[in-house]
Amino acid sequence: MRKNKTGKLAALHTPLGVRSVYDSVCFCNRCGMCSPVCPSYAAQPKEATSPRGRNQAFRLFLEGKLKNNARNRRELVKLITSCTLCGRCSRACPGQIPTAQHMLEFRRRLRACLLPRTLFVGLRLRQTAPWLFEWGVRCGLWLHRVKVLPFIGVLPGFGWVKHVCELLPSRRQKPFMPQDKTRPTRIYLPSLEAQFILPDLARSVYDTAAKKHRVCVWKNTASGLFEYVYGDLARARKIVRGLIIRHSQTGNGKLPLLSDSIDVYNFFKQVPQLFEGFPTWVQKAQHFADCVRFVCDVLPKKPAQAGAFAKPVFMMSSALLADDSPAQIQAGQILHTLFKKNFVQCGYTHAQAVPAGYGFVKDTCAPAYELEAVRTLAKHQVQTVFVLSGLAALELDLALRRFYPAARAEHIARLNG
Ligand code: SF4
Ligand code: SF4
Repeated sequence: MRKNKTGKLAALHTPLGVRSVYDSVCFCNRCGMCSPVCPSYAAQPKEATSPRGRNQAFRLFLEGKLKNNARNRRELVKLITSCTLCGRCSRACPGQIPTAQHMLEFRRRLRACLLPRTLFVGLRLRQTAPWLFEWGVRCGLWLHRVKVLPFIGVLPGFGWVKHVCELLPSRRQKPFMPQDKTRPTRIYLPSLEAQFILPDLARSVYDTAAKKHRVCVWKNTASGLFEYVYGDLARARKIVRGLIIRHSQTGNGKLPLLSDSIDVYNFFKQVPQLFEGFPTWVQKAQHFADCVRFVCDVLPKKPAQAGAFAKPVFMMSSALLADDSPAQIQAGQILHTLFKKNFVQCGYTHAQAVPAGYGFVKDTCAPAYELEAVRTLAKHQVQTVFVLSGLAALELDLALRRFYPAARAEHIARLNG
């Protein structure tokens, strides 16, 4: 493959075919059918924060009709950072316009740095020096246990550490160190949080999968999701290219790849568009995407711990890119079968139930969304909320502990212990 360092997508793979970004934005006919389902619009009902408003702003930007001054830039950054990238608008839209994809592309073109620099550099280490990253995380966890980590949060540029301290479980957990099986039949790529912060979640997924498969684990492996969401597209492409090559060299290149995070799953399903313009790589990426599975794929029909959860039960939507991805539908069906009338599903029409996983929006918008989510749960008197990513479970559980302690958030893999 030719070296491709472009920081923009050449084209989008939309439900209605491959389109240039500009064409895709222009297909928005401004009907407004998407506004009622947009959680961001529900929290701040202004035209600019509706999917229609976002698309129109992006179109004007692409046409060069918005002056590139500080005031405009400030407003545009607010507009793109308040989008939770949930993709609900696309499902409500008659033209299935991928507004979340547009907002990601808008982030890249504005070159808006949405993550604190120190956090961005730290996460980048996972790809450039994985051993250093692992060492850093282990040090951080140890500092948390001896209660020193909060003091790092007062250093300039490290304010995010305070939030991490709130999220981290206080109990010590055994690290996740499985032995790889020879001649594997399934690959497991643990998400960042499952490998380092919630090793019991990773162990649960591994044990469940290992009952039927010989599992090999890609430990401390970056997925490229952070780079994709936070604007470093060239690096995201490089990481995914590495994964595709590694996948083709493992087993016979056809092994299913298991993910415990719906965000990583949705991202992997969309990787072919990263390689648009390079037909052989689009094909390889498509094959890779077809091999990706979500953890529900290995959950047994009657998970061991299903009876242990307080009812009624709820499922929060995905945080990223596809509110109705096949994995999400499958998870809904599993919960519906297990909990029957006690299962209250959050459909995309329930705009007030904000998707969990607030790490992908700017922290100034997150509290309003959190409160909306908690209000919905309290309204339905929910006691257990299942979410489809470890990070979303941690974020939502923190909000519940603060505002609605009667409920708990859990990753769906916990159904099996
Ligand atoms: S994004 Fe779709 S639903 Fe929303 S205004 Fe545009 S065409 Fe209508
Ligand atoms: S992706 Fe979600 S938050 Fe963003 S505009 Fe669409 S519905 Fe609203």
